[in-house]
Amino acid sequence: MSDRTSDAPWQRIGARPAPTRYRKNPVTQNPNSSEGEVALVGAGPGDPELLTLKAWRLIQSAEVVLYDRLVSAEILSLIPETAELVHVGKQRANHTLPQDQINNRLVELALQGKTVVRLKGGDPFIFGRGGEEIETLAAAGVRFQVVPGITAASGCAAYAGIPLTHRDHAQSVRFVTGHLKNDTCDLPWNDFVQNNQTLVFYMGLVGLPVICRQLMASGMSVDMPVALVSRGTTPEQKVVAGTLTTIVDLVDSQEVEPPTLVIIGHVVALRSRLDWVASVPMQPILS
Ligand code: SAH
Repeated sequence: MSDRTSDAPWQRIGARPAPTRYRKNPVTQNPNSSEGEVALVGAGPGDPELLTLKAWRLIQSAEVVLYDRLVSAEILSLIPETAELVHVGKQRANHTLPQDQINNRLVELALQGKTVVRLKGGDPFIFGRGGEEIETLAAAGVRFQVVPGITAASGCAAYAGIPLTHRDHAQSVRFVTGHLKNDTCDLPWNDFVQNNQTLVFYMGLVGLPVICRQLMASGMSVDMPVALVSRGTTPEQKVVAGTLTTIVDLVDSQEVEPPTLVIIGHVVALRSRLDWVASVPMQPILS
C-alpha cells in the first residue's frame, strides 16, 4: 500500500489514526494573539453525548462562553471553570438580551482579544439566528468559525423512534417554524400537504391548534399521525402521539414542558415498533 492510500482514514480501520488534524485549534492558535475569535457552536438538543468532538474541544479552550436557554445543564457543566459564562437568554417573548446586543457583545469580546464560544442549542444555522450573529462579526472583521450541531429534528426524531425519512413513507422532510406571526399564518399550507413528506415544526407548541387546523383545511388527512416531543434527548424526554384531530386535546390534558418539537407524517406511526429509548437508559457518563 502506498503512503498516499494509507492517508485515507477509512482505509485505516483497525489502526489507530494519528489525530494531528484535530490537534490544530484555529481559535487558540491564532497567530496574532491580540486578536480574538468567535466560534459559533451548535450544542445539539440536550444529551451532552450528542456534542461533536469539535464543539467539545472549542468549549475546553474558550475564555468566554455565551449560551442561551436551550443549552442543557449537563452541557454547561462541561465548560471549564476558567471560562466566563454569560447567559444571553432567549425564551419565547422574554429575550434576556436583544439579538443586536448579543451580536455587538460578540464583537466587543473578540476585539478585546478573547477566545469566545457562542454556544447555541441544536444547530446554529437552523432557526438559530446564527447567520445574523456572524454577519455582524464579518462586518467587524472578526475571525469566526461555525460548528454544526445535531438539530432538534434529528435528535428528537431519533430518540423518539421516528425515522424522518423512510423509503415506504417519506421521501422528503421539511423543517418549518411554528412561531406564527398571526393566527391566519403566512405559511404555504397547501405546499405542506404532499404525499410522503414529513413535516417538522420547531417552536410549534403555542401554534399547534392553528397548525393542525390549517393542515386539515388544506386537505391533509385528519388521521395523519402527529407526535409532540418535549425535552427531546434529555432524561425528561416525553412524547405525546396522536393524530391531527386528537393531538391538541392530548397535549392539553397533560404537563408538557418546553422545548417541544412537532413531527407530522406517516413515519410517526412507526414509533409504536421502533421506540427504543426506554430500553437503553441514559448514562450520565460525561458528568
Ligand atoms: N437551533 C435549534 C433550534 C432553535 S429554535 C436547533 O437546531 O435545534 C427553538 C426550538 O427548537 C424549540 O422551540 C423547539 O421546537 C426546538 N427544540 C430545541 N431543542 C429541543 C429539544 N431538546 N426537544 C424538543 N424541541 C427542541
